Amino acid sequence: MTITPLMPVYPRCEVRPVRGEGCYLYGEQGERYLDFASGIAVNILGHGHPVLTKAIQDQAATLMHVSNLYGSPQGEAFAKRLVDNSFADTVFFTNSGAEAVECAIKTARRYHYAKGNAHKHELITFGNAFHGRTLGAISATDQPKMREGFEPLLPGFAYARFDDLEGAKALMTENTAGFLVEPIQGEGGIRVGSDAFIQGLRALCDEHDLMLVFDEVQCGVARTGTLYAYEQYGVTPDIMASAKGIGGGFPMGACLATEKAAAGMVFGTHGSTYGGNPLAMAAGQAVFDVILEPGFLENVRQMSDRLVQALEQFIPNHDHLFDSVRGKGLMLGLKMKSDSRAFVAHLRNHGLLTVAAGENVMRILPPLVIEQAHVDEFIERLSAGAASYQAPA
Ligand SMILES: *Cc1c(COP(=O)(O)O)cnc(C)c1O
Repeated sequence: MTITPLMPVYPRCEVRPVRGEGCYLYGEQGERYLDFASGIAVNILGHGHPVLTKAIQDQAATLMHVSNLYGSPQGEAFAKRLVDNSFADTVFFTNSGAEAVECAIKTARRYHYAKGNAHKHELITFGNAFHGRTLGAISATDQPKMREGFEPLLPGFAYARFDDLEGAKALMTENTAGFLVEPIQGEGGIRVGSDAFIQGLRALCDEHDLMLVFDEVQCGVARTGTLYAYEQYGVTPDIMASAKGIGGGFPMGACLATEKAAAGMVFGTHGSTYGGNPLAMAAGQAVFDVILEPGFLENVRQMSDRLVQALEQFIPNHDHLFDSVRGKGLMLGLKMKSDSRAFVAHLRNHGLLTVAAGENVMRILPPLVIEQAHVDEFIERLSAGAASYQAPA
């Protein structure tokens, strides 16, 4: 037998973390890494944050899980908090980002069904999108590496180019249910949707009674310097998938919707055994206790400004390797002139963790609690890494 007990779907690297502390991870031999990957935008409070740790410990000892057959004071309270701090009127809790996207797709289809327009089932999505790995979520992306071998996929998706409003408009038919879009693509390469694109999609939805569905699984929950990225576009979605940072490392997600958009989601239409259980709700509340503190978002924006400034000074000194910096808040991408995967691997030898993405972009996704000293250390390690780097031919 050559297959490993852990199904070998990830090309796992040599870093084997066993402990985390603040913005650092430690390997089996005590190796120390500055963690500017954050479990891919998940550990927004860093590792071992006392507020989050205590909330989980206390809740685990009090009540970990009950069925959604029962009333949920914990779920009601956290849903109300999400509603009070967003465009939404109602929330469905999930265990992951892909499930939040699934709920968003179902909610959009059901909206039209409930209005007697069951033929309006098709969502227009965008090139290089990433919405997760369920069959629904891979049906919503045009990326062959995620779809190949899993056909037949779900019908009901059409694919426009990202940031191409006219292209999206051209795909609209009488079957269109709406648009599903990451306002800022993560996996696809930290591509920031333009104001005109995002606002244009909103206008099309208003005009044709379509659902605007945002996937803020990566860009939401304070990552971009506002609680949600959509706030910076001056528009609101009808439905939004949230996850990753929402639990600060506890696996959970949420599908948020307006009352109008959720009109079809009545008793029996959707469910989840674990979704919104008391342990998850305690984790989410703890994360929101911290990120809604005065000054938290300011810190994200300030650290972002300093990182961007430092990177913009750094790039010209290494312009054979790097092209530009892009992104918003602490969701940044360093566009490279060669394979970003190889450089991310090289930086691990310099005790620095980042994440590769599409378009040869290196993602910079630090915990949102970083301080100036972490920015300085990041630039130091990056410089050392760049100085010793031989780009693959
Ligand atoms: C990570 C991600 C997902 C999938 O989340 P999972 O928790 O892995 O299911 C969906 N959409 C976006 C934009 C993501 O970054």
